[in-house]
Amino acid sequence: MGDLVDAWETRSVTRAPDDVDAVVVGAGFAGLYAHHRLRALGLTVRGFEAAGGVGGTWWWNRYPGARCDVESMDYCYSFSPELEQEWTWSERYATQPEILGYLEHVADRFDLRRDIQFETRVTEAAWDEKAQRWYITTDHGDRVSAQFCIMATGCLSEAKQPEVDGIETFRGDVFHTGRWPHEGVELAGRRVGVIGTGSSGIQSIPIMAREVEHLTVFQRTPNFTMPAKNAPLEPEAVAARKTRAREHRDAMRSSRAGVVVPMPEHSALAVDDDARDAHYDRAWETGALYGMVAAFNDLLIDRDANDTAAEYVRARIRETVNDPAVAECLSPRNHPFGTKRPCLDTDYYATFNRDNVTLVDVRATPIVAITPAGVRTTDGEFELDTIVFATGFDAMTGPLLGPDITGAGSLKLRDKWAAGPRTYLGIAIAGFPNLFAVTGPGSPSVLVNMAVAIEHHVDWIVDCIATLRERGLASIDATVEAEDDWVDHVNAVANLTLFPHANSWYMGANVPGKPRVFMPYIGGFPRYDEICRDVAAHDYRGFTLTPATAQQPAPSSP
Ligand code: FAD
Ligand code: NAP
Repeated sequence: MGDLVDAWETRSVTRAPDDVDAVVVGAGFAGLYAHHRLRALGLTVRGFEAAGGVGGTWWWNRYPGARCDVESMDYCYSFSPELEQEWTWSERYATQPEILGYLEHVADRFDLRRDIQFETRVTEAAWDEKAQRWYITTDHGDRVSAQFCIMATGCLSEAKQPEVDGIETFRGDVFHTGRWPHEGVELAGRRVGVIGTGSSGIQSIPIMAREVEHLTVFQRTPNFTMPAKNAPLEPEAVAARKTRAREHRDAMRSSRAGVVVPMPEHSALAVDDDARDAHYDRAWETGALYGMVAAFNDLLIDRDANDTAAEYVRARIRETVNDPAVAECLSPRNHPFGTKRPCLDTDYYATFNRDNVTLVDVRATPIVAITPAGVRTTDGEFELDTIVFATGFDAMTGPLLGPDITGAGSLKLRDKWAAGPRTYLGIAIAGFPNLFAVTGPGSPSVLVNMAVAIEHHVDWIVDCIATLRERGLASIDATVEAEDDWVDHVNAVANLTLFPHANSWYMGANVPGKPRVFMPYIGGFPRYDEICRDVAAHDYRGFTLTPATAQQPAPSSP
């Protein structure tokens, strides 16, 4: 038996850990697909999920107006042609309940719930070198040993608690968009304050404004947002997509962002002002996230080109918002267009023309404290009945650093990542054998359609596991050299762009004290896929493969 089991026994723990082939942490898009694929391989699998059901993001984020901003027909699995044919999305951008319904359908259709333990958080994972296995502990006292540990814990699942004094003194109700109560929240007749104007704030503000007595929006950084042009899907469009579903999926996987976008050929600076504005007008009307971002080929790499897009959006804000001072306050000026995730909205800017909406610039007049009566800024106190924190997430690293993960040689992930995350391909971490992160830092993840990235990564991980088992190997571990090279590559590509110029959650800038590192891989999905294929084709180049020894438990037979 391994060192850890010995340690448990010396602590008089009588219950031996359950032995399985693989543990999957999380039951969102990634965890569900991982269960499906691992089971098909014949592995025994245990799943743990902190939420009360499947769905991940779509289980937690139930705030008013929550929807996808990648089109529904693209933001779904492609692994099952039958599933693709039988499921019909109702809107261009599906609502949270519809996406959750889809993931519940997937769980039922493929019988994925039976191995998942809900309302159970993994608190520790430790690698036993002698046994070549992971020992996993939960907040319910479960102990499971597994050859493989798949962290399908998401990039945006660790809601960020706001760092404002006095929250506990507030007499009213406090909510976070990423932890919205399932029974809903009564907002009618209330004085509501929203802190945060990222995607969650921008989606929910127009809807809350229609319901509440008064809405006060506390904005630290205005964001760029474009009209979603959401609409019910026409049956003909759905049927047409289903008819050419396979070709469309291939086209998605061949595109930089995992969605089919016409590739721009021109620089924004190569055309005259009228032609440029006409082009932006068409892009604005597409209602697609990538319509504006990909309007010209240099918007994310050239500051002058970027300024033309930023100024176009600011002009649209001035056109929509009646009060010039409010329009100016809503106009982003602190970061280049597209370098914080841009948003899609329905009536966001027009909402600030309503009599019952007040915009407070908390960069000019910072929040000092939450008081029993409301929010106090340096300018005065705003009395409120309800506070909504739309303050985002400890993105990408937060969910992986939540559990105490200890790798080979007692190396703690928290220590290894003290100066910022380091991975190989965003999937593996040197010194943490047989631990796989789906969409970890260093993966294209949040910069692409995540449904595409997730399926890709899970496929790569499960194919890797299948290879290890076929060859009787006990473990696979990234080398430090390969990891260093990957981190250098991720940084080098990021530094070719304007992204590092923004204080974004991509950079860890939204969490005080978090190291500033550009976390996702911006080289595009096809290039990333090519690299991953190449690594696998060259006997998992950049990894060390360790054969099983006689002391280690034989893998369970399929
Ligand atoms: P998640 O869905 O985040 O699931 C991870 C799960 O792991 C969570 O349920 C969490 O409870 C669980 N977990 C974490 N740690 C532990 C632990 N220690 N123990 C047990 N369980 C744990 N992406 C797009 O591509 N397009 C979109 O339109 C889009 N819209 C979004 C809208 C919102 C409001 C948000 C917040 C994100 C959106 N995203 C979008 C990103 C979205 O997170 C991904 O698309 C996708 O849902 C992630 O799936 P996942 O399974 O990787 O992670
Ligand atoms: P976010 O983009 O990080 O936005 C958080 C907002 O809260 C920012 O405006 C931030 O200001 C503000 N904030 C944070 N702490 C604050 C404080 N102490 N005082 C004042 N303001 C504070 O988070 P999010 O809106 O939840 O979105 C996160 C990501 O989830 C998105 O980028 C997107 O990838 C995904 N998402 C997608 C959709 C969708 O449309 N499908 C919807 C929601 C979320 P600063 O900018 O100054 O930090």
